[in-house]
Amino acid sequence: GDGPCHVGLDFGTSGARVTVIDDAGAIVAEARSGYGEGADRDWAGAWERVLFDLLSSLPAPARARAASLAIDGTSATALLVDARSGEVLAPPKLYNEAQGPEAVAAAKAIAPPAHTAVAATSTLCKLLTWRAAGAWSAAERAGGAPALLHQADWLAGLLHGRAGVSDWNNALKLGFDPEAEAYPAWLTDQDFAQLLPPRVVAPGAPVAPLSPAAAARAGLPPGLLVCGGTTDSIAAFVAAGVTEVGQAVTSLGSTMAVKLLSSCRVDDAAFGVYSHRLGDAWLVGGASNTGGAVLRRFFSDAALEQLTPRLNPAAPTGLDYYPLAARGERFPVNDPGLEPRLEPRPADDAVFLQGLLESMARIEGEAYSLLRRLGASPLREVVTAGGGARNEKWTAMRAAALGVPVRAAGRGEASYGAALLARQGWRRARGEGGGGPPAGEARRR
Ligand code: ADP
Repeated sequence: GDGPCHVGLDFGTSGARVTVIDDAGAIVAEARSGYGEGADRDWAGAWERVLFDLLSSLPAPARARAASLAIDGTSATALLVDARSGEVLAPPKLYNEAQGPEAVAAAKAIAPPAHTAVAATSTLCKLLTWRAAGAWSAAERAGGAPALLHQADWLAGLLHGRAGVSDWNNALKLGFDPEAEAYPAWLTDQDFAQLLPPRVVAPGAPVAPLSPAAAARAGLPPGLLVCGGTTDSIAAFVAAGVTEVGQAVTSLGSTMAVKLLSSCRVDDAAFGVYSHRLGDAWLVGGASNTGGAVLRRFFSDAALEQLTPRLNPAAPTGLDYYPLAARGERFPVNDPGLEPRLEPRPADDAVFLQGLLESMARIEGEAYSLLRRLGASPLREVVTAGGGARNEKWTAMRAAALGVPVRAAGRGEASYGAALLARQGWRRARGEGGGGPPAGEARRR
């Protein structure tokens, strides 16, 4: 082939991956890389190195055809830079770094009650920690332009050279309002408002061409269009190919996460439920602590394979467990003290396994029922991602519990979802709307 290609980059928790697709969505090239020994001493340096290494490692024909690119990063991973010099003023704070009680209290004092930006790991709490430490006062005194960027914003900025561009998904935990497409007054009134990324675009929106310097360094065509990014979990959702309201993705990894495409927004901090905007629809998500981590405690993956043929979805065990790896649940049951319920244990391991899988299917059903009660669109179909997707017997139990069709996701890789967003941006820049609903550009039915 010699048509245009689209590049997706995923900067995940344990490494980065690049996927190049052609205009039909077929994979043309793929590569992955860890962040390397000692990356935690200089995350920003490691990400920058991996970005350019991955791009320049792609086969020359794929690079020559590259027309657009998008990047996803881990949610709420952020750093402070000087927008004039590009210098990193404060090393990145990672997605899972909980900030102290002072930062949470400061966030609560300015944000509406139960806003997702008041969680201890939010980008807002990270910014408030930096403010309390005076992290940008020296730069300000020296006439610099301190700026907050998310991981994906910063990496894309290394490519297009424009300062201060973020996207709806990354900016959500900072407090950006994707419905109004603006920062709310409670943010713009703050003395740190000048640090917020001034331009917040839709995921996959055309942003700017690659800078000549970045093109030379990456070995990519200078005209390549850099598009708005997203977070890693949204990119994985886009990769699953879900585009219609009522479609959902259940991720069955160590934990169980559900995301439903809804025509209306649903947020409920008590259950940890919140909504990302995707096109003109909302991606409503929640995460349960049940999932594969509990299975791992009892069964190796090989044992799971061996026992699975003996499961009989047509004959439910009636066992009523609440499988948890540790005490405490948030969604669909908000009870920090909830104890794992794993008794009685039948003598036959196959019966025990079936009881565990049925119970998780029941919890998954309760999760979608709760989203519906909170106001989300009705469930029509569930696509499955993660290690649990390969178990067809479990899929049958889940279809029975959910009352809708359940199938495995085509491609689970976040980098594939980022490439779909890049394709969407390229099509939009050329004024093409056709070819079915673009990934990530969800439509109402
Ligand atoms: P994560 O990335 O969250 O660690 P994965 O998506 O890799 O998780 O999925 C791993 C999980 O899938 C494990 O916890 C394991 O118990 C579960 N798993 C693996 N094989 C099977 C199987 N055949 N049936 C059900 N679950 C499985």
